[in-house]
Amino acid sequence: MLLNDRVCVITGAASARGIGKATARLFARHGARVAILDLEAGQAEAAARDLGPGHVGLACDVTDRAACTAAADEIVARLGRIDVLVNNAGITQPLKIMEIGPEHYDAVTDVNLRGTLYMSQAVIPAMRQQGSGAIVCMSSVSAQRGGGIFGGPHYSAAKAGVLGLQKAMARELGPDGVRVNAVTPGLIQTDITGGKLTPELKVEIAKGIPLGRLGVADDVANACLFLASDLSTYITGAVIDVNGGMLI
Ligand code: NAD
Repeated sequence: MLLNDRVCVITGAASARGIGKATARLFARHGARVAILDLEAGQAEAAARDLGPGHVGLACDVTDRAACTAAADEIVARLGRIDVLVNNAGITQPLKIMEIGPEHYDAVTDVNLRGTLYMSQAVIPAMRQQGSGAIVCMSSVSAQRGGGIFGGPHYSAAKAGVLGLQKAMARELGPDGVRVNAVTPGLIQTDITGGKLTPELKVEIAKGIPLGRLGVADDVANACLFLASDLSTYITGAVIDVNGGMLI
């Protein structure tokens, strides 16, 4: 039980096959009280109920600063504190550079990067007051290798921005006892990627991965658990690649 009684907030955690929901399940198994945030209240509440009693599900669009603050306030009111935030909500668009219009750029940057800023700002006061906290930011291998199979250049840029923001927050919040780390998943089979992966494409992609397979949501959840728990109390500003060796 690595997160006994810790209050853990996970954004974008209602999607059935997603990394956020897998992380919520793992955190709950480790004793956490989990707050699941997602766009639809009904879906977030249902996902929280799936975890068992003592968890909460709330509607929160991470691009809306007031909604982030309201969600954090409600979590503190209902669960007493906030120990962990996983900035997981994200969207991607498979566009080429000349196809990216202002609306695409805004949508992708707003959820992935602005959302990470807003939700972090919403929980930092509670963490500072406690003198402790752990924030995990979801970036992507797309930030490191300049594009993935499904993310456009604007997605790569937003996820690279997440790494800069994460490191700056780690530097600023370290003295307050708040650690800020990031995870860079490779190709993980979720709803973001799932529909587009034919069996042939999977075999082709796996050939370029030293560990010989695509990732699953639990692979990423395990890294989040490490970064959220006391196993990583001397780690901040770090980035953990969960990609089967794709970048070696
Ligand atoms: P997913 O689509 O299953 O989950 C994303 C979740 O974010 C959904 O539940 C969605 O409703 C939610 N969401 C979208 N916009 C939101 C908003 N404005 N406010 C709140 N919630 C919002 O995708 P996933 O693959 O589980 O992705 C989770 C994270 O991992 C994302 O940040 C994604 O960019 C990142 N990632 C995924 C992969 C991959 O291969 N699947 C690789 C690298 C990084």
